[in-house]
Amino acid sequence: MSRGAERGTPPMIAKAGVVGAGSMGSGIAAQFANAGIPVVLLDIPAKEGPRAAIARGGVERQLKAGGFMHGDAAALVTVGNTEDDLGKLSDVDWIVEAVVEDLAVKQALFRRIEQVRKPGCIVSSNTSTIRRAALIDDLGDGFADHFVVTHFFNPPRHMRLMEIVAGDNAGTDIVARTRHAAAIALGKTVVMARDTPGFIANRIGCYWMAMAAMEALRLGLTIEEADAVAGQPFGVPRTGVFGLFDLVGIDLVPHVWKSLERALPQDDDLQQFRLTQQPLFRAMIERGLHGRK
Ligand code: NAD
Repeated sequence: MSRGAERGTPPMIAKAGVVGAGSMGSGIAAQFANAGIPVVLLDIPAKEGPRAAIARGGVERQLKAGGFMHGDAAALVTVGNTEDDLGKLSDVDWIVEAVVEDLAVKQALFRRIEQVRKPGCIVSSNTSTIRRAALIDDLGDGFADHFVVTHFFNPPRHMRLMEIVAGDNAGTDIVARTRHAAAIALGKTVVMARDTPGFIANRIGCYWMAMAAMEALRLGLTIEEADAVAGQPFGVPRTGVFGLFDLVGIDLVPHVWKSLERALPQDDDLQQFRLTQQPLFRAMIERGLHGRK
């Protein structure tokens, strides 16, 4: 019997999997390793060189960025690619999906994960904006039972908040195990959120960021002036709004903000501030200027 079971709490995660080794996936894998939990980290195969090079690159970035509490924890991460190594997820207890914010890509991956996951394995998505109901659409009744949204924030080691969305048909044992592991192993403060686009933080925060940036540009402020005003006297947050875009990644705009613009009704206030159409942001993305994420 596990320690958790003796105390009447849900059994702890013994092994984890993360698919998508970008900023979030590699950071989430590092946080599992920080908790002493072995983790398989997969990304798409590299076009040249070792086929696990993209996932390996994620581990290396976390080593540089301080995602690991100690460099030795990186040894708990097994890297691979989603073509050759999906079977390595067959003995894990929790698989976190952290691939690009695209509904079709996520659903295609879930179908493949369904072929390999063991019974009782939790599958969760780190989506920022897409409703759980949309993610599980067409995936069959069995999928919903063990599927939740676990929305980590960036960087996953340091940001305390995690939103969990269970909808109305995730199994109660699955939700209890996810909450318990998130809180006890990963050190997160869990907030249960409703299944709406952007959940809580992004529904408010993405609106605030789009509105603040577009109003500053409309008023003719420089980037430095806008950040000096928002970051110092208002303090929401210290970086100011453009500094915050720089930190989260300007390349997220066509994914995250576009996804919200698509999902929210036309009369939602966010539709007044269509960041995806804003010329400065569009030009930076076209030139590959993604910030210092
Ligand atoms: P990213 O662009 O840094 O990384 C995405 C990774 O997914 C890339 O390494 C890419 O190669 C990989 N990928 C794409 N398609 C794949 C597939 N079919 N199979 C396997 N790997 C695939 O993105 P990110 O910022 O890490 O975001 C990942 C997810 O987390 C998104 O859903 C995003 O909305 C969400 N999120 C991001 C943040 C943030 O601040 N960056 C915060 C919370 C949630």
